[in-house]
Amino acid sequence: MQCKEIFKFIENWAPKAAAWPKDNPGLQVGYSDNNVSGVLLCLEVTPKVVEEAIKKKLNLIISHHPFLFRPLSKIDIRQDQQAKIIESLIKNEITLYSAHTNLDFTKDGVSFQLAKKLELNNIQFLQYSESNQCKIIVFVPETDVERISEVLFESGCGNIGEYSGCSFRTSGIGTFKGSELSSPVIGEKGKLETVKEIKLEALADKWRVNEVIARLVKAHPYEEPAIDIIPVNNYNKSFGVGTIGELASPMTKNDFFRYVTEKLNLKNFRYADAEVNEVKKVALCGGSGFEVLPYALKQKADVLITADVKYHNFLDTNGCILLIDAGHYETEIVVLDEVEKRIKDFLKDDKISVFKFSGSTNPINYYR
Ligand SMILES: [Zn+2]
Repeated sequence: MQCKEIFKFIENWAPKAAAWPKDNPGLQVGYSDNNVSGVLLCLEVTPKVVEEAIKKKLNLIISHHPFLFRPLSKIDIRQDQQAKIIESLIKNEITLYSAHTNLDFTKDGVSFQLAKKLELNNIQFLQYSESNQCKIIVFVPETDVERISEVLFESGCGNIGEYSGCSFRTSGIGTFKGSELSSPVIGEKGKLETVKEIKLEALADKWRVNEVIARLVKAHPYEEPAIDIIPVNNYNKSFGVGTIGELASPMTKNDFFRYVTEKLNLKNFRYADAEVNEVKKVALCGGSGFEVLPYALKQKADVLITADVKYHNFLDTNGCILLIDAGHYETEIVVLDEVEKRIKDFLKDDKISVFKFSGSTNPINYYR
């Protein structure tokens, strides 16, 4: 199993194209065609993470935070920790890959895992992504419609929320006349043909379109398949920001504070208070997610849990919602269990070990 096959598996769940435009997910350092000896998962790469990979003979590290985020102006191996890590990775033939905001914005990504950790019910995106899909319309002879629709679905088209295989078919008459240079599958060149066709349509994520078209063209019986690609402004129910869900039963504010502390294994947290009689509806955004506040307010959440909240952000809540800053590391580390589960399942026949880093990479400590 080559590293790039694991990258492809991850990107099928968390496509790089779904990431924040200024992000840098994907291969950071290394060799995408090396065979994988083992996988080490972490939130960020530190010298201790690399040491553990070397000790356990794991040659693929997958981190959440990209190792390379700002452009490097030099690689000073004597002075700079990042440069030392690059040297160590290359010397030990270790490949480093990151899945960052693409993992934040995908279904079952960071904020979903945070909601699951709090055992919420009815977990949904707080706000869906929009305008990142196209409608693919392909005109197919009646006899080929089942085969071509399978090609569409296998290429990742036709997914709406919890439903797959979503398409629509309209029958009609297609016409065409081939030139002298054509080789029509049906009829003769130079003669106007009429054929009973189906107009087959399904939604596709924009980043899949090129591959979908290539597969359609290959599978379609016609020399020149007629395919329309139409951008749509739909909400994409497979991608979004933050999550919202409900506690099984309402809690008092103090009980909820204790509950969050226990479930997220917190030493401490900061919060802006609000007059909340009981907490039921919980909005979440793992990592720096204060900007989801308007969505949490719109959905009438009792509380928003996120991280990296500034003083003036706390003031901005104006007592309208309970705001908890539970820590960046603490609200994101929860995703590694899901990444581990998925990769282990993908590699189950290959006898390749998958580990989470045994220590903590949280740079923040708490005094007392
Ligand atoms: Zn983060």
